[in-house]
Amino acid sequence: MTTTFQAIVVDQVEGKPVPQLKNLTVADLPAGEVLVAIDYSSINYKDAMALTGTGKIIRSFPMVPGIDFAGTVVESSSADYQAGDKVVLTGWSVGERFWGGYSQMQRVKAEWLVPLPAGLSSESAMAIGTAGLTAMLCVMALQDAGVHHGKILVTGANGGVGSVAISLLAGLGYEVTALSQRPDENRDYLMGLGAKDVIGGPEWKEKPAPLGSQRWQGAVDVVGGTVLARVLSEMDYGGAVAACGLAGGFGLETTVMPFILRGVRLLGVDSVMCPKDRRMAAWQRLASEFAAPAQAQMQRIAGLGEVMALAKDFMAGTSRGRVVVDVNR
Ligand code: NDP
Repeated sequence: MTTTFQAIVVDQVEGKPVPQLKNLTVADLPAGEVLVAIDYSSINYKDAMALTGTGKIIRSFPMVPGIDFAGTVVESSSADYQAGDKVVLTGWSVGERFWGGYSQMQRVKAEWLVPLPAGLSSESAMAIGTAGLTAMLCVMALQDAGVHHGKILVTGANGGVGSVAISLLAGLGYEVTALSQRPDENRDYLMGLGAKDVIGGPEWKEKPAPLGSQRWQGAVDVVGGTVLARVLSEMDYGGAVAACGLAGGFGLETTVMPFILRGVRLLGVDSVMCPKDRRMAAWQRLASEFAAPAQAQMQRIAGLGEVMALAKDFMAGTSRGRVVVDVNR
């Protein structure tokens, strides 16, 4: 196959990643069992870090970033997939160690793919993407911990994981409070997703007291740092926090008090290391529980040429909802 297609390729120049839109052919792609014509990818926080050279996300150069994608199988040497199958990929260090979704074609291992769940289009799958999958894994972690109702706090509410988590939790009947750095600016959007209240304020940047008033039966935290420390100090007795992110820092200065005196559980959630059965269960639930109106409210669609500018919004903490990348636009 000699067709030329477009991809964002990141090279390392003088120690810094330099992304460029390039023309590639199938011969340029890495070895793998399944060749996929990509329909959509998305921008996740990790992609923004990779494109802007924040941290060391990219492990080898040149790299095609994009940690998730949805598309159609073109060729397969695996018995699990045939030409024409619709597939989704999240995780497996794609876009970090292996070439990812910011390309019109990609070749990957069969075990990295899952079939597109019935009821989802490629576009919806990437409106969900890694961020939405992680939000669902957080919901499942809270449910597994016995948190089936009550007041839930979602931090980093305006972002991808936060937005999907609010919509899913509100749909399940929880009373959701959204924590945002800019509560007034984001109130209408967050209430539209199902939040009952939107809070925020300077105290969330300060080190909290070891224990505060009991306010939350559960929490989904994407921010880490002082925000996670305060969330832990405000949990009800027996409450649980699903922690998956570090948008506000990877440090955590807390005390043993919430754990000893209030039996609080801190549940780590990672979509990359998630076993295939749980990943499939999460996708099946997303296909039925992620409502179309919520998708319309939180998604915007961008082309490959817009990805770089949008990555900068993520790093500035001003990105809203989910950014779907139409790689053929
Ligand atoms: P986004 O950039 O879309 O959202 C992050 C949100 O956090 C922002 O919109 C903002 O919300 C808030 N925020 C940003 N910077 C700060 C800050 N310095 N202090 C406090 N709040 C801040 O990212 P995602 O939702 O895609 O990802 C969020 C986090 O989750 C990232 O750390 C990402 O790496 C992680 N993640 C982890 C996964 C896993 O498998 N464990 C998978 C996907 C993401 P607001 O304006 O409302 O305050």
